[in-house]
Amino acid sequence: MRSASAAAATLDVAAIRADFPILATTARGAPLVYLDSAATSQKPQCVIDALTSYYTTSNANVHRSVHYLAERATMAFEEARARVAAFVNAPAAENVVWVRGTTEAVNLVATSWGRRNLAAGDTVLLTEMEHHSNLVPWHMLAKSPDEGGLGIALDFVPLTDDGQLDMDVAAEKLAAGPRLFGFTAKSNVLGTENDVVRLCATAREHGVVTLVDGAQSVPHGAVDFAALGCDFLAFSAHKALGPMGAGALVVNADRYAEMDPYQGGGEMIMRVKLATSTYMDPPLRFEAGTPSAGDVIAFHTALDYLAGCDLAAVHEHETRLTRLALDLLAELGVRTFGPADAAQRAGIVSFDVPGVHPHDVSTLLDGRGIAVRAGHHCCQPLMRRLGVIATSRASFYLYNTEDEVRRFADGVRHVQEYFRRR
Ligand code: PMP
Repeated sequence: MRSASAAAATLDVAAIRADFPILATTARGAPLVYLDSAATSQKPQCVIDALTSYYTTSNANVHRSVHYLAERATMAFEEARARVAAFVNAPAAENVVWVRGTTEAVNLVATSWGRRNLAAGDTVLLTEMEHHSNLVPWHMLAKSPDEGGLGIALDFVPLTDDGQLDMDVAAEKLAAGPRLFGFTAKSNVLGTENDVVRLCATAREHGVVTLVDGAQSVPHGAVDFAALGCDFLAFSAHKALGPMGAGALVVNADRYAEMDPYQGGGEMIMRVKLATSTYMDPPLRFEAGTPSAGDVIAFHTALDYLAGCDLAAVHEHETRLTRLALDLLAELGVRTFGPADAAQRAGIVSFDVPGVHPHDVSTLLDGRGIAVRAGHHCCQPLMRRLGVIATSRASFYLYNTEDEVRRFADGVRHVQEYFRRR
């Protein structure tokens, strides 16, 4: 297995593709065209090997036993934490809490920070482009206390018609003093890349705690936790070439003191008596129970692979593919959603073929081996804002090619012709 860096410095896409065995397979008898990386990325052989290697050479429960295997596993587990911290430029490994993914990270913030610091009369500010995972945990806190909530208010930054956050309204709403502003760095439907630095700076001016959903941004470019200036950054391994089952919540250390444990159980405790317990320091305080150690360790390998690529070149490549897709779809008269400029929405193209249900679009494309997603993309409020019940979505990553985008557009033309004939 060639090292990642060899494949990537100039974004040699053919060499990168050779690292992903699934990309050489067929689907429905045609070469697979995988355009669903926003849902989950494919995995390079080195990540698959890392998982196998963990289970063949190092498997043991971490932070528990002192035998050889346990030491190996614990060391690799903690090295992965340091790798994640370095990848996003967090101050230290201790700022990284392991979670199952972005969804669990947001739930952790809502529960550990929210339940301790919010009360009726407080507002949490979100946006109209949030994934359900950054809406539903806050809905739970907005319920009345007799329904298990806190009775907090929720407010939302609206979108402009081209799918950007309305920055003037965002500034006004931040000045009104919500307690927390939770927002995605990049929309999984529109591809919109939000100005996280500016939003966090405005939030800080008004003493507003910030939670950034990095599920779609961390895998695609250099995300610098320190430069963003946010309090919490959440992301998932599986969208960044890593396995499902691992993710990270990066926490500004000042916030740790304001958080109660998320769950109770093994490994998060210092001392337990029958009726009381004391806790470990963070991050272990927030990691009760046996973690997904093999996934975390393979996440380390995935980040090594990504870091071995020129992330600016990855972004440029995705922008190029996006621009081509937008141009080809426009030629076909297909409606696309989100910013017109590909540079503001690299990698994601949601579209609507007039008169054809997105599931039919997806099914017909699938018949040609082309994988796109159709549905509400866990963003039902955003669908309502766009005036649709669902969209089709093609999403690109470092391993996709212009030829695949052309096959995709050809597939969409076939969809149009098929429905014109009926
Ligand atoms: N936020 C965004 C913007 C996403 O795209 C996703 C995954 N579709 C999530 C959150 C949730 O991530 P996960 O399912 O890995 O927890």
